[in-house]
Amino acid sequence: MTEYLNFIDGRHVAGRGPAFANHFPTTGEVIGEIRSADRDQVDEAVGAARRALKGPWGRMSLAERVGLIRKLADGINARFDEFLAAEIRDTGKPRSIASHIDIPRGAANFNVFADQVMTLATESFEMATPDGAGALNYAVRDPRGVIGVICPWNLPLLLMTWKVAPALACGNTVVVKPSEETPATATLLGEVMNAVGIPPGVYNVVHGHGVGSAGEYLTQHTDVDGITFTGETRTGEAIMAAAAKGVRPVSLEMGGKNAGIIFDDADFEKTMEGIGRACFANTGQVCLGTERIYVQRGIFDRVAEGLAAKAAAYRFGDPFDPATTMGTVISAKHRAKVLGYYDRAREGGATILAGGGAAGVKGYEGGYWVQPTVWTGLPEDSPVIRDEIFGPCTHLQPFDTEEEAIALANDSRYGLATSIWTEGLGRAHRVARQIDVGIAWVNCWFLRDLRTPFGGAKASGIGREGGVHSMEFYTELRNICIKL
Ligand code: NAD
Repeated sequence: MTEYLNFIDGRHVAGRGPAFANHFPTTGEVIGEIRSADRDQVDEAVGAARRALKGPWGRMSLAERVGLIRKLADGINARFDEFLAAEIRDTGKPRSIASHIDIPRGAANFNVFADQVMTLATESFEMATPDGAGALNYAVRDPRGVIGVICPWNLPLLLMTWKVAPALACGNTVVVKPSEETPATATLLGEVMNAVGIPPGVYNVVHGHGVGSAGEYLTQHTDVDGITFTGETRTGEAIMAAAAKGVRPVSLEMGGKNAGIIFDDADFEKTMEGIGRACFANTGQVCLGTERIYVQRGIFDRVAEGLAAKAAAYRFGDPFDPATTMGTVISAKHRAKVLGYYDRAREGGATILAGGGAAGVKGYEGGYWVQPTVWTGLPEDSPVIRDEIFGPCTHLQPFDTEEEAIALANDSRYGLATSIWTEGLGRAHRVARQIDVGIAWVNCWFLRDLRTPFGGAKASGIGREGGVHSMEFYTELRNICIKL
């Protein structure tokens, strides 16, 4: 049994708030206890972060700070197996995913933003003045201050360092509230912070839930200067309302109901490989995942058959076994939500091409298993097609014309990502430009250059992070005008 401690002012401390259990999703067993931070402890964490801004961290040269940030990447890599095991036990995700994506990118984020901050330029303008002397304007970037970081459970370390790395690179301090489902890697990172010499108070972790708990205490705390959040759109709305008090900026990366569009000139094999991953990777618990696919009518049956075969090929099992390709969903509660949509699809008259229910896995009967599922035949107003399910499932719908595909893809309150599959160059550019999303992939999915803008349109987000765009959020840009 692990006890997950908070990390405040450089020390791991027990929470004074209510305790709750941490489960291993593969078996349903209780493997740990999380003692949440109470309101006073969140206040202590914010206070420590504020003091650290004025302490050695605030006085450090950029080169020194960047040196320490690179050591964080090295520090995670040096304890790679520990981070890997912690992430797998929290999420139940297969080693094949966590060892290729979660932990390497969780570490790499520190180097990416160390590079970014070293090449960050600002503008300058010379101007004329009536007396002929002139003036020089130049902009400078200062840290925004104390950043509240609210994280989800689907890619815990990766999505947390995606925010913590640029925040620290820009000289801010952070208070992180990890998901109540996945406390482990954020806690472990505290040890790495101390080991590499990050001053106390720069990185703090408070555990707990959202409403009436550490999440709300943190976002409502007016000494937090900015809030960066990844999670559900509904939660983002609550956080935006909390941030209005004190007029504090937010960066929100939220839900999606992403459409894939497959044209009849697509390379069939490559498309099936890519779209299969887009539907089922991480048991469908990826904000960028594809839960609705529009397929040009001439190839519809072939795609339906191909995708059903992809779904059937996944192997459940021990997530530590390299042969396992699909894990559980995160919790019993989330499985109930996903299976609720499976029921609605059936009741709504869907044709089930693959899966369709819970899965049973011998030896792991208590785990939160769900079958990878492919449907067709539902009307576009079905909740299965409107709502983000966040499970390993997708719905196929035929279309005839390019215009129709664009209209169907855009008919959603969300606007995070799309993937377009075609060998037509003109069509690729034309369609990508017309889908109302933050990220359009053509003939690929989840191909990420971390310098590019990342974020959602419509109800999927506010702001962009990644590369220089993260620098925009994590700094305050100020102009200095010197009369010459
Ligand atoms: P969630 O919104 O339920 O929880 C996210 C975090 O917010 C948790 O730490 C939670 O404790 C906290 N929280 C909840 N209510 C709060 C409140 N009122 N005030 C402050 N904090 C609060 O999301 P989740 O279930 O953990 O994650 C899944 C969701 O995340 C999906 O909607 C998915 O699309 C989205 N997501 C988006 C991206 C992206 O980049 N756009 C990436 C990953 C996940």
